[in-house]
Amino acid sequence: MRGLMQDWPLLCHRIIEHAAEVHGTQEVVTRSVEGPIHRTNYRQIRDRALKVSQRLDRDGIKLGDRVATIAWNTWRHLEAWYGIMGIGAICHTVNPRLFPDQIAWIINHAEDRVVMTDLTFIPILEKIADKLPSVERYIVFTDKAHMPQTTLKNAMAYEDWIAEADGDFKWKTFDENTAAAMCYTSGTTGDPKGVLYSHRSNVLHALMANSGDSLGANAADTMLPVVPLFHANSWGIAFSAPSMGTKLVFPGAKLDGASVYELLDTEKVTHTAGVPTVWLMLLNHMAASSLKLPHLRMVVCGGSAMPRSMIKSFLDLGVAVRHAWGMTEMSPIGTLAALKPPFAELKGEALLDILQTQGYPPFGVQMKITDDSGKDLPWDGKTFGRLKVSGPAVSKAYFRVDADILDEAGYFDTGDVATIDADGYMRITDRSKDVIKSGGEWISSIDLENLAVGHPAVAEAAVIGVYHPKWDERPLLIIQLKQGQSATREDILKFMDGKIAKWWMPDDVAFVDGIPHTATGKILKTALRDQFKSYRFPNAAA
Ligand code: AMP
Repeated sequence: MRGLMQDWPLLCHRIIEHAAEVHGTQEVVTRSVEGPIHRTNYRQIRDRALKVSQRLDRDGIKLGDRVATIAWNTWRHLEAWYGIMGIGAICHTVNPRLFPDQIAWIINHAEDRVVMTDLTFIPILEKIADKLPSVERYIVFTDKAHMPQTTLKNAMAYEDWIAEADGDFKWKTFDENTAAAMCYTSGTTGDPKGVLYSHRSNVLHALMANSGDSLGANAADTMLPVVPLFHANSWGIAFSAPSMGTKLVFPGAKLDGASVYELLDTEKVTHTAGVPTVWLMLLNHMAASSLKLPHLRMVVCGGSAMPRSMIKSFLDLGVAVRHAWGMTEMSPIGTLAALKPPFAELKGEALLDILQTQGYPPFGVQMKITDDSGKDLPWDGKTFGRLKVSGPAVSKAYFRVDADILDEAGYFDTGDVATIDADGYMRITDRSKDVIKSGGEWISSIDLENLAVGHPAVAEAAVIGVYHPKWDERPLLIIQLKQGQSATREDILKFMDGKIAKWWMPDDVAFVDGIPHTATGKILKTALRDQFKSYRFPNAAA
């Protein structure tokens, strides 16, 4: 027997429609790429998104066609998202921090028909445009006054382009499993892989993100996503904030500590989300002038492990932290370290111990850890295993890749190594390819990095496994010092001594001027392994 409830497909544009109807005057504030602060609201965003839909429809963009955006977090980008998805086209967010050749590869693989972009990225696109045969036209997120001369094919300023539509248009209706958006993973090896979200998965993910124990922002709150729309749906915020009626503040192109601080302060932001590098810049800026953020209640931090010292700095400022883990393939939320009973009562180091885990999954994500043969491992907080996940917003395949990516039980192997404790709190210890195998035992490079970065002179730390004749591999700690600070190998090792098992202690410390990063801000360990490929430990007899 079937239930007697309405058939109400979970379509992304229903979210912006709801925001316009119920939270129509709620503000969306942007530091525009042109400079000034711009203010709009959900009703206007919905109205203009409909014009985007109408305009794309008139240009012949159909269900399933790909439209790329290469753009900062702005109100125009948000309108374009909903406008593209609202006719069943696929919003393909491209990460502008990739190398131009990678951008070209991705656009060609997706066969994008239209590219919508910011003024900032015109020069990059002009350089690769002749290698992009599928692209029929470029729309630049600006107005006539700021539109430059460009060689980009059929280029038009966004404001002129949507002005040609009167907005008398209806969202299209289709099956909720229709593809809505795509985002390529910025893998460090092999070709990038296209993750294809559906309308249903995005809507369900928004509902998962909306709980108090997830992103935790309500209609009375203000959210500033520093995390870009092109980094895994800005962690779902582009859907969850309008669905809750949360005020949005977009930072545009300026992500430095001073600019982010200014927006957090002047817009009285209560919730914000971003990667640790961004928070490092903010905390340094605030510390230099003893600044405070009295309205800020929660910093969501993910993408890379959040160092303990950073968690403590925010708590000292009176700001709660929510350490989160996820990945592009998971839409992206996997786990969040909310404090469930009895942990909310904890203080001091015991509190930091819990906040430093990557947390537990919301309803809608199932996880398990297994050994290499696929056997389930216990949730005892100690046993490391391959972290595997399943859920309605987790990928089951990559775009145009003919390979099965799920195990027999339908779980996706995240490529991360983790422990899970009896309360469901998960702790990432490594990427499976970065784990250090010393004498048959595993050493967590992330734990060592987190510890080393707590030294006051250390700006950033990376640990890689280097060949050792007796132990196979031993940890080499690579340090970038803060500007104007000094520390020796011995200082760093002394600082770490006693805080970890003796056999986890790095065998050596190397100092570098800069640590390389991927386009999403993660430490690029392949480049470091390459850089140190001839390195040999001084204590290792040949
Ligand atoms: P991406 O798809 O670019 O978001 O990258 C996902 C990967 O980032 C995960 O598989 C993890 O390896 C890493 N990651 C994300 N969040 C965290 C975190 N809180 N701690 C450690 N690693 C993380």
